[in-house]
Amino acid sequence: MEIVLDHLTKKFPGRGKNRQEVIAVNDFTFTIPDGKLAALLGPSGCGKSTTLNMICGLLAPTSGEIFFGDNNVTALPPEERGVGMVFQNYALYPHMTVEQNIRFPLENFRGKDRLSKEAMKERVLEAAKLVHIEELLERKPSELSGGQQQRVAIARSLVKLPKVLLLDEPLSNLDARLRLATREEIRRIQQETRITTVFVTHDQDEAMSISDLIVVMKEGVLQQVDSPQKVYDDPANQFVAQFLGTPPINMFDGELKDGQLWIAGEPVLRVAEGESVPEGPVSVGIRPEGFILLEGGAMHTEMVRPEITGRDVSVIFRNKAAKTDVVRSIISAEDWNHISGGEVHFDLKPAKVYLFAPGTGERIRVKLEPLAQSAPQ
Ligand code: ADP
Ligand code: MG
Repeated sequence: MEIVLDHLTKKFPGRGKNRQEVIAVNDFTFTIPDGKLAALLGPSGCGKSTTLNMICGLLAPTSGEIFFGDNNVTALPPEERGVGMVFQNYALYPHMTVEQNIRFPLENFRGKDRLSKEAMKERVLEAAKLVHIEELLERKPSELSGGQQQRVAIARSLVKLPKVLLLDEPLSNLDARLRLATREEIRRIQQETRITTVFVTHDQDEAMSISDLIVVMKEGVLQQVDSPQKVYDDPANQFVAQFLGTPPINMFDGELKDGQLWIAGEPVLRVAEGESVPEGPVSVGIRPEGFILLEGGAMHTEMVRPEITGRDVSVIFRNKAAKTDVVRSIISAEDWNHISGGEVHFDLKPAKVYLFAPGTGERIRVKLEPLAQSAPQ
């Protein structure tokens, strides 16, 4: 089921002395294609839950519309939207068994939708099998681990065969290892069922690893809607570039001058032939993997220490134009020549260098190339 948000806005009235109105969701327009998993990603308070609750029908939008396929669902109550919902706290009924918990939504079916006992049993077993808990049906929630409880909650949301599955930070209460395993499970279940799924998270790594589509938001404003790879490779602005990627992108003060990009008084890349760019100061973002360790390379830095992790080496260095105390580059272990300190030089990979307007953080799109005099790569 395709989900379309059309100029969706939610305002909350202000509280307290100054009564400043909160625009939790400001004019969101985007489409989640049928059968895909989309992550709503952004820091706490950016409007993720508000968006999800409007898709679900728990919150009415201030303006704008929501479509499931061709169907305008904006005014429909949650139970008529065909959505399954999973929250951070699994909210299972403690006095019921796993089977009873999963069956519960089916008990509310009335009239022609009412299922026989046998049909319910079958549905519950199917949902339990999908999340691999069919052996636990007789247990009470207190006899389950956090990960198992969350699977029960997912089974309960699937038992009504929803057309849309909505998950609000479903992994936050799990420990790190379970979180990894459960997110793989959610991806598997989504791919098996092909249910259009919206997954809320503030964890970029989580969003990158399981989504078809990432919706990046900040303070109620949409920043970018793209595939994980595209959001990483082609960020719309500095916020997106800094929010995605571990280790994070490194930021520098730079300058466009004489057809070159300068960092700390050195030309490091040149502007490609035929590109016209305004000269002046720019913020420069360089991904950790954008540095090439090279004697005589364009960028001169002072090494702090290497961190050797096996497959790669992180060379931690200082540069006076960096916006952070130290900069982290990642180079492959084969290119590592065992220096331990002093001056190190890097060339830069143009595709890993991004320019932003100082102040607004808007992307400045300029094609950059290695300096002519650089060693061939
Ligand atoms: P997220 O899920 O991304 O952490 P939310 O959608 O919960 O963010 O909240 C977005 C903004 O809306 C926040 O500033 C929050 O304080 C505000 N907000 C959320 N719900 C309400 C409410 N019921 N009344 C007033 N403000 C709210
Ligand atoms: Mg939230």
